[in-house]
Amino acid sequence: MPALSGSYHTGGIFELVTGNPAFQCDVGVLLPLLGSLDIFIFSLIAGLLIYWFLFRKKTDPSHPAKVLNNSTSLSFLNRNVVVFYGSQTGTAEEFANRLAKDAHRYGMKGMAADPEEYDMSELSRLKEIPNSMAVFCMATYGEGDPTDNAQEFYDWMQGTDDDLEGVNFAVFGLGNKTYEHFNATGKYTDKRLAELGGKRVFDLGLGDDDSNLEEDFISWKEQFWPAVCEFFGVEATGEDSSIRQFELVVHNDINMNQVYTGEMGRLKSFQTQKPPFDSKNPFLAPVSVNRKLNKGGNRHLMHIELDIMDSKIRYDAGDHVAVYPINDAVVVSRIGERLGVDLDTAISLKNLDEECNKKHPFPCPTTYRTALSHYLDINNKPRKNVLYDLAQYASDPQEQENMRKMASASPEGKALYQSWVLDSERNILAILEDLPSLNPPIDHLCELLPRLQARYYSIASSSKVHPNSIHICAVVIEYTTETGRVYKGVATNWLKNKEVTENGHKHTVPMYVRRSQFRLPFKPSNPVIMIGPGTGIAPFMGFIQERAWQKEQGKDVGETILYFGCRHKNEDFLYQQELEEFERVGVLTQLNIAFSRDQERKIYVQHLLKKNKEQLWKLIHSNNAHIYVCGDARNMARDVHTAFYEIAEEVGGLTHTQAVDYFKKLMTKGRYSQDVWS
Ligand code: NAP
Repeated sequence: MPALSGSYHTGGIFELVTGNPAFQCDVGVLLPLLGSLDIFIFSLIAGLLIYWFLFRKKTDPSHPAKVLNNSTSLSFLNRNVVVFYGSQTGTAEEFANRLAKDAHRYGMKGMAADPEEYDMSELSRLKEIPNSMAVFCMATYGEGDPTDNAQEFYDWMQGTDDDLEGVNFAVFGLGNKTYEHFNATGKYTDKRLAELGGKRVFDLGLGDDDSNLEEDFISWKEQFWPAVCEFFGVEATGEDSSIRQFELVVHNDINMNQVYTGEMGRLKSFQTQKPPFDSKNPFLAPVSVNRKLNKGGNRHLMHIELDIMDSKIRYDAGDHVAVYPINDAVVVSRIGERLGVDLDTAISLKNLDEECNKKHPFPCPTTYRTALSHYLDINNKPRKNVLYDLAQYASDPQEQENMRKMASASPEGKALYQSWVLDSERNILAILEDLPSLNPPIDHLCELLPRLQARYYSIASSSKVHPNSIHICAVVIEYTTETGRVYKGVATNWLKNKEVTENGHKHTVPMYVRRSQFRLPFKPSNPVIMIGPGTGIAPFMGFIQERAWQKEQGKDVGETILYFGCRHKNEDFLYQQELEEFERVGVLTQLNIAFSRDQERKIYVQHLLKKNKEQLWKLIHSNNAHIYVCGDARNMARDVHTAFYEIAEEVGGLTHTQAVDYFKKLMTKGRYSQDVWS
């Protein structure tokens, strides 16, 4: 035994696990020198070490074993029309479902598919299926990125040289014109599939969420299907009827322990929490702090701290925290009352297509109340397909006609949908209340409503300073709509009420962290220029805390400049005390604040940028400064961008084209980063 102990080393064991042939060769030399007991003990120890190594990998959440996607077991080669979606907020998935459903009207077998769950390298084999086509509904996320679920497919497209000749395809992109890289993912998918030899059945559609994504999709779809019919020589099989995808199963006698109560993946995952935590397995974080940030005005701006102690969740300043909210219980109950349904009935919605990977539209079995509270979006304005499918349940012919009209692509219908649903901000409850003859079965309504999505907030803390908590800075959304109803943002109103009670009880919030590219420079000595008016200050609280920490560590920290904007100094100067303290101790080398409404003429962050143009140009052009912008995408981020062009032109002497090019290059180099929303 003692001789043996010197003859092997754990390094060898690891090589065996990783299949390194060098170790197998070592064993061959070693074995003839050993007795059978030694060999037995050697094997036992080796076995234990291998077991330990594998077991440790599975249970150590800080090193999660790579989650195998189902690509090896799932194939899409049993359908003519496969509609893949790259979806972050659920809209692309919804559109894909609608297209897949449409396919049945043309005698084709359709299916919506998440590219993450399938082996996309099988795409070239789709041509083996007669009259087949792959359709892609691809959303662009953030600064031109694919969505999380499309990342692997995107990487595959970039790297593959598969021959897609004979594969028919079409792409609809979902994007937003206020962002620099409008529809980058849709455009890339369309271009790349054609480069690989695929046959484009219909032109790329580019939906713009800044204007009217739904209309863009409907207009594209209206032309897409005739093009498909012509291409394949098929015809619509009949009326544009509403087809059910799921059947209702009522569980009269179910053990309530088997019923989902809001979990996203594993049943009872909220009772027995197991890391790693992600979108399917959120962590229930206690809300340890919830305080109002503004001193006046009629808004409610809040600072919230989520306790992530014991969760093993890690984050970096600049990341986003995703929160799963719960719908307003009063609205849920009112839907139940209006439809005359016992919301506590336990049910399942089961896919009628048994071969389809998606067995249920949301975790089942559950109750209607849980579905309407946790899983379905009941607060937003319903899309046209929902109105179309529900119209059959309106007994008043006039109401039915109006619903059908709103769902149509006719100019009259578009105008009616725009004014009656969009401009008036009618959610499903308002529609049910204002169309008294409309009485849909609740299970069909549950099938049609989109999923309630997690909300993302820029994290307002640094993990170097706050390793056990994640901070959020948000404004509560609440206003009166045209119909006199009060619109309340689901997540912010739900968060607002999560206050620590007098006896110390803390409410919990299902959350996980989403990584981002919004990062401080690798070298702390690089200057940073941060522009974040309003709640756009959030990630910069994390950045500033981190720069303070770096300073404390004795690092050479470059200039740290903040441009913040708010309405009134005495009202919504968020984190005033903290920011002034950071300035006093020299962490913030400059604190510039634009109080927009404290004087007659508006002063915004971009006006202050222009005022300091010489200093800024020097920092950017000569000192390698990194620029960060956070907040409103539609106006602020664009205006700030323009201010930088003007600075480059006025101080740097560049032409406008050169200035545009200059900042494009900074973006590519990661020296001009945006975390903006619209
Ligand atoms: P806010 O308090 O409404 O605005 C902050 C400051 O920015 C105010 O002084 C405002 O001035 C000023 N401002 C207005 N237009 C500007 C422009 N074009 N350029 C520079 N500054 C400008 O900020 P907030 O409540 O944090 O909201 C900021 C924006 O982000 C809003 O559009 C809001 O709807 C949006 N938001 C979105 C989310 C989301 O998750 N989607 C979350 C929070 C906020 P005046 O008001 O005096 O003009």
